[in-house]
Amino acid sequence: MMSPNEALAKAKNILDEGGVIGFPTETVYGLAARIDIPSAVEKIFTTKERPFFDPLIVHVASVEQAKKVTAYWGPASQALAEVFWPGPLTLVLPRDPSVNLMITSGLETVGIRMPNHPLALELLQQVGVPLAAPSANKFGRTSPTSASHVRVEFKNEDVFVVDGGDCQIGIESTVLLVRHRPDKVVLSILRRGHVLQSDIAKVLSEKGFEFEFVEQLDKRESPGHMKHHYMPPVPLIVCTDVQRLPEDIVKEVNQKMGELPDEIESIKIVKPKAGIHTWSILKLSEDPLLATRELYGKLREVAIQGADCILFYRESHQAGERWESLFDRLNKAASLIL
Ligand code: AMP
Ligand code: MG
Repeated sequence: MMSPNEALAKAKNILDEGGVIGFPTETVYGLAARIDIPSAVEKIFTTKERPFFDPLIVHVASVEQAKKVTAYWGPASQALAEVFWPGPLTLVLPRDPSVNLMITSGLETVGIRMPNHPLALELLQQVGVPLAAPSANKFGRTSPTSASHVRVEFKNEDVFVVDGGDCQIGIESTVLLVRHRPDKVVLSILRRGHVLQSDIAKVLSEKGFEFEFVEQLDKRESPGHMKHHYMPPVPLIVCTDVQRLPEDIVKEVNQKMGELPDEIESIKIVKPKAGIHTWSILKLSEDPLLATRELYGKLREVAIQGADCILFYRESHQAGERWESLFDRLNKAASLIL
């Protein structure tokens, strides 16, 4: 076993030479490259088989580094970073011209965050340059929350992974588009996560900002939000009727599976080859924070139990802002919701 210091030194070497590595954050594991080496950034897309229309988040070690990659940082970003960084909040801000357009998928904005994990911060400090990093999984598949998940995902590509234990948050960061207007700050949550809209509103109110949340409907400004994502290798079925028997659900699924398209928005839909005869039940903790932490790991576990499908019963108590972040992921991972 390598010591953490040896692992960081090896990771830094690979990054400096233009390679990609897996590294831990508090949300999920990332697949990182230096933002100033274009061929390395390209390697993220090819390793993940990720389409170039889905932008990468730039990870920084400090607010100073964040300012360097933005054309305008602004007082609201400063206020939010002071409270939520390091942590699971990605700020989408105007891009500094020096930021490679491959990272932003051609957009004039860049997503930035400072991760809250000691090894991630140490690595970022040692490298001295921000790291572009999406989640370390093949495009469209379940995100990794442990080093072994990343190794399994990229066993053919032989990606070196810094082992930082299990991720404490377990789902990806909240993505927040911040527009500083002369009279107020206009915000849009582009992706739900651990930091809730109510948390953000509370901070801005307390600090005396005039602000407004608006729904971002323009798909070009909110890329990477496909109907499906995070899919396990066997079909996941979400059932909102807890009274329904598995036999009955499976019967309906077998009828409906044939009607599913092979692919939606570049994501291959997971379909069984023959009919579904067996199932594994996915169970999550009652507490939404714990449920979120274990979500991806449990999805991976039940997926390899050998059943034809995974069944998840959505219960009525699983409601509210925090559960919504979890269901944003779970519903996208599902082949069918009944
Ligand atoms: P991942 O790191 O794999 O969770 O993916 C990063 C996600 O962050 C993308 O899929 C986008 O949804 C979002 N994102 C990153 N940069 C931007 C940006 N400039 N504008 C809007 N969304 C972004
Ligand atoms: Mg991802």
